[in-house]
Amino acid sequence: MIQVQNLSKHFGSLVVLKDINADIRKGEVISVIGPSGTGKSTFLRCLNLLEMPTGGSILIDGIPLLDRHTNVPRLRRKMGMVFQSFNLYNHLTVIENLSIGPRKLLGKTREEAHRKGMELLKLVGLGEKAYAFPDELSGGQKQRVAIARCMAMEPEILLFDEPTSALDPTMVSEVLAVIRRLAREGMTMVIVTHEMEFARNISTRVFYMDEGLIYEEGSSEQIFDQPRKEKTRAFLHRIRSLERKISSPDYDLYALQAEMEAFCDKHMVTKRVAGYAVHMTEEVLCLQKDFSDVRISLSYSEKDGSLELECSSAGPGRNPLEEPGEEEEIPIRLIRARCSQVDYRYEGGKNILTLLLKKE
Ligand code: ADP
Ligand code: MG
Repeated sequence: MIQVQNLSKHFGSLVVLKDINADIRKGEVISVIGPSGTGKSTFLRCLNLLEMPTGGSILIDGIPLLDRHTNVPRLRRKMGMVFQSFNLYNHLTVIENLSIGPRKLLGKTREEAHRKGMELLKLVGLGEKAYAFPDELSGGQKQRVAIARCMAMEPEILLFDEPTSALDPTMVSEVLAVIRRLAREGMTMVIVTHEMEFARNISTRVFYMDEGLIYEEGSSEQIFDQPRKEKTRAFLHRIRSLERKISSPDYDLYALQAEMEAFCDKHMVTKRVAGYAVHMTEEVLCLQKDFSDVRISLSYSEKDGSLELECSSAGPGRNPLEEPGEEEEIPIRLIRARCSQVDYRYEGGKNILTLLLKKE
């Protein structure tokens, strides 16, 4: 239904979308997730030309949206967009909000538009509110009206840009329930959302956006349970990390340890586990031979509370875990006692040790 090829969007010198490629088929429900600022809204806005793409092409049912011979208004009408902030007409009643578009743009009679509008209001659970004004509704109700208003235009696909993020938490579920219902009825949808459980349950496919690309895509199971790429994993596990470089054997160990303690404190890691992290840093640094380019990072996963320490250093590949030298035996024994997992790999000319700290 929608084919996006090499889509790019620049704002001046800022490259927001680099190279987006996607095929969206009829009946699919696609969730778009990713850190803020990665161009999720811009992507949706390019799809219906609220933003003019810088390059690439968008085909809607095979018709090029960006071709100057294309009847753009007609093509756009196939797409409805639901925004964070409802965008209802406050001076019109709910039912007028729903019937004005179909009358003016689809040429429906007043009766037709009214009848269809009432049907849609019932679908979103707001039949009673037809003659209320938007100001008299809660945020959740307003958003449900906004969804019904979109549906009144008989779109073939609905685009949602964080439909619940402006809502009071108590109202999120009523809006998600309406979207779920539309999904069950076979509506094609693209949903930008931060509601991960919802995305996992509703989507036929998930796009993870980062670096101006659809950085990883797959089924819910693939993305949420087995993300293949590091950044996807970090996003889903809400991983925060502290990274420090060391470039001489006379590095300031105490300053490094103090920074690690502060980092742990900020993320509510217990004093005890923070103490272990600091201790493990010292031991892992004891294993280093060459201090010209050492990088140490401590990562905390907010999702499962795990703490991982990684130390990389340049030099010829040598796994200290396999044939430890005499002076390495004690540090390695201490590390093994404190960590539930210790791994070594040689990658890009660097020896990398990864330690997963025990939780207590
Ligand atoms: P997301 O929805 O993933 O949070 P956005 O698409 O809103 O990301 O924004 C991506 C980047 O593009 C941000 O850095 C934002 O500041 C920038 N941006 C978005 N719209 C405009 C605009 N109209 N003019 C300039 N910069 C913009
Ligand atoms: Mg956004």
